[in-house]
Amino acid sequence: MRVFKFGGASVKNAEAIRNVGTILNAFGGEEVLVVVSAMGKTTNALEALALAYFQNNQDKYTKFKEVKSFHDEIIKDLLNGKSVRAYDDIENLFIELECEIEGKPQIGFDQVYDQIVSYGEIFSSRILSTYLNEAGVKNRWMDAQNFIITDNTYREGKVNWNRTSHLIGSKLLPIVKKQMVVTQGFIGKNQDNFTVTLGREGSDYSAAIFAYGLNAASVTIWKDVAGVMNADPKLFPDAIKIETISYPKAIEMAYYGATVIHPKTIQPLQSKNIPLFVKSFVDPSAAGTTVGVENETIKQLPTIIKKGKQVLLSFSTKDFSFIAEENLSKLFSVFASFKIRINVMQSSAISFSVCVDDEEDKIEGMRNEVKQEYDISIVKGVELLTLINFEKENATQLLNGKQIILEQKTQNTLQLVIK
Ligand code: ASP
Ligand code: MG
Repeated sequence: MRVFKFGGASVKNAEAIRNVGTILNAFGGEEVLVVVSAMGKTTNALEALALAYFQNNQDKYTKFKEVKSFHDEIIKDLLNGKSVRAYDDIENLFIELECEIEGKPQIGFDQVYDQIVSYGEIFSSRILSTYLNEAGVKNRWMDAQNFIITDNTYREGKVNWNRTSHLIGSKLLPIVKKQMVVTQGFIGKNQDNFTVTLGREGSDYSAAIFAYGLNAASVTIWKDVAGVMNADPKLFPDAIKIETISYPKAIEMAYYGATVIHPKTIQPLQSKNIPLFVKSFVDPSAAGTTVGVENETIKQLPTIIKKGKQVLLSFSTKDFSFIAEENLSKLFSVFASFKIRINVMQSSAISFSVCVDDEEDKIEGMRNEVKQEYDISIVKGVELLTLINFEKENATQLLNGKQIILEQKTQNTLQLVIK
């Protein structure tokens, strides 16, 4: 049994969807679960719609129409002049969404966000499933919310692994054994029956959750790139593809900003030794990258990961005390309460520094919370470079004209915060 994940770029228009059909056609007789993201940039468009609705801005209707006509165009192209009843059902989903944005919201923004933004995956999976059935790739559409159960952390749902894997194993597995199933990435639901999303770009993670529950033989993430590269090819034209990479190295790369795999994807797979293939949907027969093997090519490959939009925060105590366990424990609990993710940290006797994503609201909230006790310096517009198997001396070009403001080295990994 395999799990295939198709991201937004792989279903961004009718031609792309036909290409997914061609890829899946080759797996017609096999046990396959297809996990699909919202089409193209739909999630961004729905985010804007959710905000307009929440702010009771009448723009919401224009935003709704944009999302609808984008999908209508794709359906029209796929229909190619035919009339297919199943596509009419998709019309109902749009009516549902339109009802959802009527009136004024009675719930908090994050909850509103999840109820609206999740439609992107519902639309894409319904359109893909219908198209595939018409094209002879017989499949069944299933709602991921019946299987992925989360807590109430809207926009960043925490998976209830026991319930989720039980539901997947007992309810979904028998269906996938009979027929190809098409479902959604990114979404689950909580015990109050509200939709909860798993965080932006979370469809990879969904694929891993399903693979875990199904005890799948493998997961394939179909991308518009050849595989995992040792550097971002947009920034480094000499970047080359990594053939094989271990789970821990892949986690490290994803965590430090290589956007090709969502960082939460790897651990569930690693725990069951399920290999992850990253392959190109443009060139499906090419080898791609395999995650989860021992003899990794990355051991020899210098690897560069650049994470932009970072801020360096440094804390020192106002009462001249040293940075000790109590300070750190206080600071960490404040970071956690504002959901600030620390990318690198460094502590000395008198100061504690962290490099975090530049999320203005969260940082401001945290600052207010601790400013009585700490002096805080904030350096904006920094980048985090993670260099694996890479000597700093060889990075001169990369560091040209930049100033290193924090440096940290572990075994094969050098991390630099630069400005
Ligand atoms: N559609 C969601 C997003 O764009 C989830 C995903 O693409 O993985 O964030
Ligand atoms: Mg996406």
